[in-house]
Amino acid sequence: MLQKAYDYNLVQFGENVREKVSFICNCCGCCCEAMIAARRFSILNPVHTTNFIPIVSESACKGCGQCVSACPVEAMTLVSANNPANPNMKVAKLDEDICLGCGLCVRACTNKSILLKSRPTRVLTPLNGTHRAVVMAIERGKLQNLIFDNQVLWSHRALAGVLGVILKLPPLKQVLASKQLKSRYLEALINRLGI
Ligand code: SF4
Ligand code: SF4
Repeated sequence: MLQKAYDYNLVQFGENVREKVSFICNCCGCCCEAMIAARRFSILNPVHTTNFIPIVSESACKGCGQCVSACPVEAMTLVSANNPANPNMKVAKLDEDICLGCGLCVRACTNKSILLKSRPTRVLTPLNGTHRAVVMAIERGKLQNLIFDNQVLWSHRALAGVLGVILKLPPLKQVLASKQLKSRYLEALINRLGI
């Protein structure tokens, strides 16, 4: 099924976790709600990107527009090639801020003018659902809400699980987490473990 979806040029993405992925989607650009959200709210980056980004070779590009048609989020457009000898000539131009790094444009370019390269900064993929929830809460400044407003997390066991996730975060994110939580217990725990 994955191969079939790939052959149909569908965007393949799954839950943003490294372990126990609960779903994999194979989406078209026309009616998939995630792709529509990615277009409508592109600057908010509602869909996590891959760790790759396409690079267009302007000198090799023929301006055929195949990559523009293939892109599900309108990240690729045609612009003037600024060639005085051929004023109508176009080249593909990428909007890096909204590109998902799905690679469909690379496959669409039969001229082989696009390469998929690693992004300069790798995107953090959380280990599991709990890790993802905590990291998202930290990034949005809502960790205290996640822990104290969510009834599911009231039990000590669940709270211990959340703290365990925080302790596995890089030092900078731990500091952010402890600031938001304003918990002397958490701060002492992080200090005691020296991480
Ligand atoms: S990788 Fe290509 S097709 Fe995919 S979102 Fe980016 S520009 Fe569009
Ligand atoms: S498909 Fe390739 S040749 Fe055609 S516009 Fe896109 S990058 Fe250029």
